[in-house]
Amino acid sequence: MKAVVFEQFGQAPRIQTVPDPTPSEEGVVVKVEATGVCRSDWHGWMGHDRDIVLPHVPGHELAGTIAAVGRQVKRWRVGDRVTVPFVAGCGHCPQCSSGNHQVCEQQFQPGFTAWGSFAEYVALDFADTNLVEVPENLDFATAASLGCRFATSFRAIVDQGRVQAGDWVAVHGCGGVGLSAIMIANAIGANVVAIDLTEEKLAFARELGAVATVNASETKSVVSAVRELTGEGVHVSIDALGHPTTSVNSIRNLRRRGRHVQVGLMLGDHARPPIPMDRVIAYELEILGSHGMQAYRYKAMLDMIETGKLSPEKLIGKRIGLDDAPEALMQMDRFDGVGISVVTRF
Ligand SMILES: [Zn+2]
Ligand SMILES: [Zn+2]
Repeated sequence: MKAVVFEQFGQAPRIQTVPDPTPSEEGVVVKVEATGVCRSDWHGWMGHDRDIVLPHVPGHELAGTIAAVGRQVKRWRVGDRVTVPFVAGCGHCPQCSSGNHQVCEQQFQPGFTAWGSFAEYVALDFADTNLVEVPENLDFATAASLGCRFATSFRAIVDQGRVQAGDWVAVHGCGGVGLSAIMIANAIGANVVAIDLTEEKLAFARELGAVATVNASETKSVVSAVRELTGEGVHVSIDALGHPTTSVNSIRNLRRRGRHVQVGLMLGDHARPPIPMDRVIAYELEILGSHGMQAYRYKAMLDMIETGKLSPEKLIGKRIGLDDAPEALMQMDRFDGVGISVVTRF
């Protein structure tokens, strides 16, 4: 099969012909119909992810059709249309047994712990636990775009942030994660304040339902600006970018008993921001992480897509070919443009 392969971290990935994958006992092989390009792929390529063994095929936001099924798989057949969350649980460990596959102790992550979906085919382990059926009326590109940023934002807003109608919600950073969070929070009736450095992204945030925006490049204090807009601060705040500045702003703009959800990845020098613990205790704040979403929670998200409450297709930017994927991946550290690039030609 054709696949995007990198042999060394930071060295240009190339299209290569590699052996077709075979399914594990509990796994399937999926013919990839769409796969999103994500900043996490760029981090992986740069060597920021210790799970990756070289040579490597990236890609973790995928949808496609099952091409082969392992011997122990019960729920799936060749030809089924499926997608998968970027963190797949083993289905057997204590976390999985308690329903928390997103923090599985032996998690399988296509494109990180194994070869990913920048290829014609991808092998996915633990299929019965993690595959999600893609409804007939949902196209593969949109389905692929759910697996990482959108699902993680859904969990951040709905399950971890416990956002309710009428709440004030701040979203720091209006990239793929932030825009998804804005759409989801707006859909459940919250008042969303969007924060970013560029007017273009803030305009898109307003289109997706943000009731107010703060341009961090034009404001002396983002925290004061959010407090001014909301009275005493927000109920729930999301750092969707993953940076010490946005993370600390997100904690500081909370009202008493507010909840901060860290969604943007904190890597390298940014991994340990100076959290204002004095404020956390004085205001009884909650600091939460959000890391993917269990396959069984997709139902609620897919129902909201079906009924038109959520429109993840609005976040799709360019549709590109697999041949364009190496270049797209190498450019993912730049913040230009709105919308996710999705590979739809293989
Ligand atoms: Zn991703
Ligand atoms: Zn597990």
